[in-house]
Amino acid sequence: MITLRLKPFPKLGLVLALALLLSTGQASAQQGEPDGPRYVVQPGDTLSSIALRFDTPMNDIIAASDLADPNSLNVGDVLVIPGINWIDGTLVFEDIPYGESFLSLQRRYLLPEESLARLNRVTSPDQLYAGFSVMLATERGELSNRARVAVGVGSSLLELAAANGENPWAMVAVNQLPGTWAAVPGDVLFTVGREGAGPGGLPSPITALGVEDPGFMQGRASVVNVAGSGALSLGGELLGRELHFFPESETNWVAIQGVGLTTTPGIYTLTITGTFDEADFAFSQPIRVLDGNYASETLTVGAEFLDSDLSDAESAIVRELVAPASDQKLWQGLWGWPHPYVGVINSEYGTHRLYNGGSYEGYHYGVDFGGGIGIEIWAPAAGRVVFAGPMDVRGNATLIDHGWGIYTGYFHQSEIMVAAGDIVEPGQLIGLVGGTGRVSGAHLHWEVWANGEPVQPMDWLNRVFP
Ligand SMILES: [Zn+2]
Repeated sequence: MITLRLKPFPKLGLVLALALLLSTGQASAQQGEPDGPRYVVQPGDTLSSIALRFDTPMNDIIAASDLADPNSLNVGDVLVIPGINWIDGTLVFEDIPYGESFLSLQRRYLLPEESLARLNRVTSPDQLYAGFSVMLATERGELSNRARVAVGVGSSLLELAAANGENPWAMVAVNQLPGTWAAVPGDVLFTVGREGAGPGGLPSPITALGVEDPGFMQGRASVVNVAGSGALSLGGELLGRELHFFPESETNWVAIQGVGLTTTPGIYTLTITGTFDEADFAFSQPIRVLDGNYASETLTVGAEFLDSDLSDAESAIVRELVAPASDQKLWQGLWGWPHPYVGVINSEYGTHRLYNGGSYEGYHYGVDFGGGIGIEIWAPAAGRVVFAGPMDVRGNATLIDHGWGIYTGYFHQSEIMVAAGDIVEPGQLIGLVGGTGRVSGAHLHWEVWANGEPVQPMDWLNRVFP
């Protein structure tokens, strides 16, 4: 966790000197230019909103910017913001990409921590989550395309610099460290002299960190991609679960992690850890979990359906069965429907259920297919059966491991047609719909699990996961 220290202009002189040294040809603030940073008008801006944002009187901005017609402000107009002497250059907005943190942005744009915090009016680094529109000052020099190296445990910055042919004092300056002694094991530092594309928070063999749409959303499987090369090992954590990365190709690693259906929307931390060149690194970034906007329904059921103890014990067994992430991906491409009655969905995934006037609540962790007893159930994708047998609540149940932490479940069957250990092919007949276990009518309850969390099954029928 990064803590925000507010202190006056730390190392500003040194950083500025280095910024000029590193400047990649962009103009730095010259003498004779207007007094104050420049701001490029964005869609939705008004003069009063800009004045408010910078806590500067409107008339001062009008005067400093030499605005001919203050009543007509156009997107792209360049304003001078007077009275802000703690920052220079041109102020721009950027959506924070994955792989950049409050710390790496400071380093990349050679911005003192305090300036970045003041520009964005943040009091905690957690407010700068992935996708947040952050205001940055450019033209101080930018460390794009600089190689990054991780500080190994027991390795000093002097050794690290020597091993990479770097000047240790230049590395101290660009990385805004108080001294060579302040390099923390696991931290990722910019080099000064070597090129290497990729996000500032991750070491150089990594060229990109990405999360596929819809990002992190309640009840959905999120796909985290890391592009890189070399002898890289990867791990991580999200929402209390360990991420399991698997190589999809020579240059791409993938972790698929379900976000809990009942996770409260808000800001959480994504951590990516790994080892490269025998140095461990750890990168954390605030991310936002979005609301899945699921429906709510009220149900009235007999008291026997509310025996939560029995159901909890059985759920624990299922959770244990779907916990291992096996390293061979067995599915390919888009999944097939598990049931011939494509349109007969009795209940959607994610529904919040209030029973008997609200005395008990639950969530629907699967999709219910209707159609009646004896209808065929098909494997939607290749996999290995890890459980096939009766359960109290779920009735005749089958669980299939598809690899990489992805499982499917088929409950309330009248007949099970596979056994544990069987390898199933896409479209294979694996059982028949029934009304076994605790049900009020025959249906197939179908679940998909992604690394320990039951997720929206329909996604797998509509979208190709790696
Ligand atoms: Zn169901």
